[in-house]
Amino acid sequence: MARFIFITGGVVSSLGKGLMAASLAALLQARGYRVRIRKFDPYLNVDPGTMSPYQHGEVYVTDDGAETDLDLGHYERFTGVSARQSDNVTSGRIYQTIIQKERRGDYLGATVQVIPHVTDAIKEFALADTDDLDFVLCEIGGTVGDIESLPFIEAIRQLRNELEPDRTVSVHVTLVPYISAAGELKTKPTQHSVRELTSLGIQPEVLLCRCEHPLPDTERAKIAAFCNVRKEAVIPALDADSIYAVPMQYHGEGLDDEVLRAFGIRDAEEPDLSRWYDILDRYNNPEGEVTIGVVGKYVGLQDAYKSLHEALVHGGMANRVKVNIKWIDAEVFENEEELGAKLEPMHAVLVPGGFGERGSEGKIGSVKFAREHKVPFFGICLGMQMACIEGARNIAGIAGASTTEFGETDEPVVGLITEWMSKEGLEKRAADGDMGGTMRLGAYDARLSANSHVASIYEKEEISERHRHRYEVNSNYIAPLEQGGLIFTGMSPDGALPEIVERPDHPWFVGVQFHPELKSKPFDPHPLFASFIKAAVDQSRLV
Ligand code: GLN
Repeated sequence: MARFIFITGGVVSSLGKGLMAASLAALLQARGYRVRIRKFDPYLNVDPGTMSPYQHGEVYVTDDGAETDLDLGHYERFTGVSARQSDNVTSGRIYQTIIQKERRGDYLGATVQVIPHVTDAIKEFALADTDDLDFVLCEIGGTVGDIESLPFIEAIRQLRNELEPDRTVSVHVTLVPYISAAGELKTKPTQHSVRELTSLGIQPEVLLCRCEHPLPDTERAKIAAFCNVRKEAVIPALDADSIYAVPMQYHGEGLDDEVLRAFGIRDAEEPDLSRWYDILDRYNNPEGEVTIGVVGKYVGLQDAYKSLHEALVHGGMANRVKVNIKWIDAEVFENEEELGAKLEPMHAVLVPGGFGERGSEGKIGSVKFAREHKVPFFGICLGMQMACIEGARNIAGIAGASTTEFGETDEPVVGLITEWMSKEGLEKRAADGDMGGTMRLGAYDARLSANSHVASIYEKEEISERHRHRYEVNSNYIAPLEQGGLIFTGMSPDGALPEIVERPDHPWFVGVQFHPELKSKPFDPHPLFASFIKAAVDQSRLV
């Protein structure tokens, strides 16, 4: 039967709870345990799919088509376990389910309340589908004390009573700030945060204390005494140079040992950390470096491109090079000279996914620059659509080429997809339908043309990749685009939807309708990213 690890945060947000959860899961996995990580988000959106990247960072998409919190990306990257819809729930989704049931009359006249109805739904979510697991790690979003997270904390409290005593452990992540004027680390915020948690009925067994300076033994002992935990279970967590150093660092501080001890497990295998040593060796000892220009709209917030950033780093690890990423705001450099000056020093150019017209001329201009200067180019989702519009305008002579996403157009090279085949059958969408959860989402297969560049990169002709888009390259334009040298080398299995374009007359020019960055892992870099960075390395030797 699965054991449960509940992870809460205190003092401030952004303490890296998600990375902590991912690292702890990776350490347990390295000891041979089967793990799964779940995220509870207390906000009222049904999922983050409708939220701006500036509000929430990237929306991470799972194989089964869920639009989820970006922490699920860390979970997958650190454990290799594919996340599912059932691994992320929000208050909004819980309330939606309860209200639908209430309207159907399922509650048979009962008054519907936070306790027990909301807390029961949260508990059901935590327990569902856990039979074949050793550990389920549940991360609660937000900070203890938030009004929004109270039902989640209450549900955990109940679960800790209901399951056998050795089946749950609570890990609380806090901050031990350094006051430079006094030259001291302060434990009081941690004490208050743990007091808040215990007042809600949860006594944590393990504390992970984020700090910028080493935590002296005396302070560790003080936290242990005031917070009622073992001194060894007060784990200092200093900032790491790389997120991929975190599992080994936390292991060195005893995190996994203490968590296992709290469960009463004394005979666990020693972890096999060879995979993590290899990753860190590749990261810490590069044999060269390349600079990639990423031309996007949300460059002010790196979390908006979290998986993309990581996939580029993985591509670097595959080639043993350091990858410098220059985030370039597509909007500010829409004039051609400025664009050329900015892109000139880049060893490769990437136009990532995105939504809306703002900055699109800068993206199209970047495609043109990369095509004309034979600089490696990678277009992802909207980036692929921009590559098709660029080819249509500048080679096929279709001056008005555009996408219906930006408004009405006489030359819809990219248009709304209203019908497509999914595993469940025919999906249909209306132009004026709901925005939430209605894109073409999740894993879809694609067939690659034999002898194409992408088939040689993937070393196969059938692939499955994750999608998140509402528009698609219009197949009526395939012929003129192919005449202009942009070849459609990947299509949906029924041949209806373009999935990949490439330019055989260019050293490395690939556009994909899907999001390969979502499946890249440090110990299993995505082939497209490994190949793209290799092309950038080759480019760096030319200039
Ligand atoms: N906005 C485009 C579409 O919906 C691209 C989406 C994306 O890049 N994820 O089709």
